[in-house]
Amino acid sequence: MSGEGAAGAEGSWDLVIEGARLLDGDGSVEIAVKAGKIAAFVPWVEGDAARRVEARGGLVTPSFTEPHFHLDKCLSRDLLGATKPSEAFARAREVKSQFTVEDVEERASKALALAIANGIGHLRAMVDVDFATKLISLEGVLRARERYGHAIEVEIAAFPQEGIVTDPEAPALLKTALEMGADLLGGLPEFENSLEDQQSHIDTLFDIAEAEGVAIDIHCDYMDDPKLKTLEMLVDTMVTRRFEHGVIANHCNALALYPDDEAKRVIDKVKNAGIDVVVLPVANLQMLGGAKRTPYNRGSSRVKELLDAGVNVAAGSDNMYDIWYRFNRMDPLELAFITCLSAGMKTDVEVQTAFEMVTSRAARAVGRKAGEMRVGAPADLVIHEPATLVDLIRNPPGRRLHLKGGKEVGGLEGSHWAAEG
Ligand SMILES: [Zn+2]
Repeated sequence: MSGEGAAGAEGSWDLVIEGARLLDGDGSVEIAVKAGKIAAFVPWVEGDAARRVEARGGLVTPSFTEPHFHLDKCLSRDLLGATKPSEAFARAREVKSQFTVEDVEERASKALALAIANGIGHLRAMVDVDFATKLISLEGVLRARERYGHAIEVEIAAFPQEGIVTDPEAPALLKTALEMGADLLGGLPEFENSLEDQQSHIDTLFDIAEAEGVAIDIHCDYMDDPKLKTLEMLVDTMVTRRFEHGVIANHCNALALYPDDEAKRVIDKVKNAGIDVVVLPVANLQMLGGAKRTPYNRGSSRVKELLDAGVNVAAGSDNMYDIWYRFNRMDPLELAFITCLSAGMKTDVEVQTAFEMVTSRAARAVGRKAGEMRVGAPADLVIHEPATLVDLIRNPPGRRLHLKGGKEVGGLEGSHWAAEG
């Protein structure tokens, strides 16, 4: 919290949140909202309020940022039928080629509704743009974005899931996607068949991003295979080109399996280049962990070493009930919780960091100002039932209310009961 505002200021408030607890404050405060912005944090607000909401001593936090979610493919698992892992890529491609604009819009809308209910105010969507789906998935997601634009900001990364060298249609489709409303470019260099083609994949993305002035958000070394080096390739290319429109490296799972000295060298490069890292521990814990029947590693990146080096690390949920991941409730608190488990984050500071990875750090990674609790910031807030951070991340059933610009746009009503003897 910064800037307390003034109690008893003249005029009337659009909203007053009573009995709020803040992460960095003692006791309860009232939060006044005017014209969509936070106007005051004070012990009590004087003046009229068009609406009052009682937080009942629960935490009030910034709304969540989901920095990485495949909005076009979510909820498509039923379309796949029974699929062996070895058939997954081919079957996913077949299914994708049958997507319609309406089907994508419906599935994406369901995911956005869930995101809004859980308190996500900003979501960066990865959307396949390739020979199989052409621009159909993008059109469906654009419609869903329009449908829910009042409640959630959706950024779209045009994502060449089928490669760029391996899919010669991709470069032109990526450019058209940006004209149609995509905001930035995704990438997947490890999909290519040689180191030269991986470099070419990255170069093509930078060529387009430089020409269009957009950011890049690349899947790097998804598989936990230490032979993969696309993160370092991305960093070197960014530095050589002096690219300044923003770069995120996501996944970075191979980094966990590099020898320590190699990992440190790459992490230092990531830090010096100013690249943000988004980890996707929920989906990766299920999908990866080594080729043995019992997983022998956690299948996720070196979160603590990246943080120790001063890299901004955020967490995203990646997928929901599709070929890549079966589950996902679109709940950033569940994501923060699993991030703690995946990365071994257990001290008070680490738990706080995990929460930041789905709020302020995630917002910073995608270049947003969201996540600020200060007078004058947009009133993009979530009112929770728990009063402490650990209880929040334990995520017991309870009420949650999501405000966008001071307006109520979604929430959860949770309760539980148990008979006593
Ligand atoms: Zn992804």
